[in-house]
Amino acid sequence: SNNRHSDAAGQNLWKSVPTFGHKSARPRAALISLVRNSELPGLVQSMRQLEYRWNRKYNYPWIFFNEEPFTDEFKAATQNLTSAQCYYEVVPTEHWSLPDWIDEGRFMNSLEYLGAIGVGKGWMISYRHMCRWNSGFFYKHPRLRDFDWYWRVEPDVHYFCDIDYDVFRFMRDNNMKYGFNMNILDDARSFPSLWSRTRSFINAHPELIHPDADLDWLLDSRNSGDYNNCQFFSNFEIGSLDFFRSEANEKYFDWLDRGGGFYYERFGDAPIHTLSVAMFVPKSEIWFFRDIGYQHDINRHCPPQSSHRCSCDPTPIDENFYKLVPLESPQKKPDDTCIRQFLGGD
Ligand code: GDP
Ligand code: MN
Repeated sequence: SNNRHSDAAGQNLWKSVPTFGHKSARPRAALISLVRNSELPGLVQSMRQLEYRWNRKYNYPWIFFNEEPFTDEFKAATQNLTSAQCYYEVVPTEHWSLPDWIDEGRFMNSLEYLGAIGVGKGWMISYRHMCRWNSGFFYKHPRLRDFDWYWRVEPDVHYFCDIDYDVFRFMRDNNMKYGFNMNILDDARSFPSLWSRTRSFINAHPELIHPDADLDWLLDSRNSGDYNNCQFFSNFEIGSLDFFRSEANEKYFDWLDRGGGFYYERFGDAPIHTLSVAMFVPKSEIWFFRDIGYQHDINRHCPPQSSHRCSCDPTPIDENFYKLVPLESPQKKPDDTCIRQFLGGD
């Protein structure tokens, strides 16, 4: 079964065990960030820390994406923080607009309804485009054509620890497809039809499900067969672009997109990446970057201090500290139970 992770449900939860092969070519990889001009200060903070903790040693290029052109100020400030090459890309309009099969009235109703019941950013049109772009379009941008790997970076996040190895080589040499370091339970009211839509996809395309896929850790044991809402917190992810470009992922994205869930509901890229990876990738090719200290908003992952010069307090490892919250929970909650289920699921 799942030896890579099998020690991890217990006290070795935070042990970091990167190992390397000996392939020599440098991975074709980039740090990528979808960001607004107005978020420059937050991005500067994220970039500074990631450069200091990691990229100044490896010099992978940065690629910035925006649905409008970046300002000269944005370009100058970001290029100034790295000796690596920076690219500034505009998202094609057809990747950031309402598809013609979407009923605008129904979309407007959804904005109003999710806004009224308090689903986070449920009223924002741009948030819907953003989630859809992160789900099905980022890897289609022409700038990424010559790249195989990406590390997603958001403004205003924190990287707490030194990272003393090339994470892209690690991914490539170990044949990993997807890396994460936090799980959350997001507001299930944002995607009421996601699981039934996913089940219908599985029924329509059973041949696309990987024989070594493990969906058990995503199923609610109390309510058999339902999605338990666990998701890789996708603002941190290190992944294979080839995986996202694969037939399986593309068909799954199109299936969801055709159903309108990005606009009639508020499908997030986190649950969609999670379900896609879980269906199409063997679990042994999904990596928990427990050694990378990281924070997004109130969600923090901090490894033990011992090894990596971290500037954060280690996340407590206490069975009772984390609890599965009800599916109706209106908050994004960091959820260690999800990670335990992922790691210890066999
Ligand atoms: P949250 O983490 O789910 O609350 O979502 P964020 O607001 O942080 O957005 C996720 C990422 O997409 C961040 O990197 C944002 O900078 C970026 N983003 C969100 N909306 C837009 C937008 O309308 N335009 C651009 N260019 N970037 C956006
Ligand atoms: Mn964010």
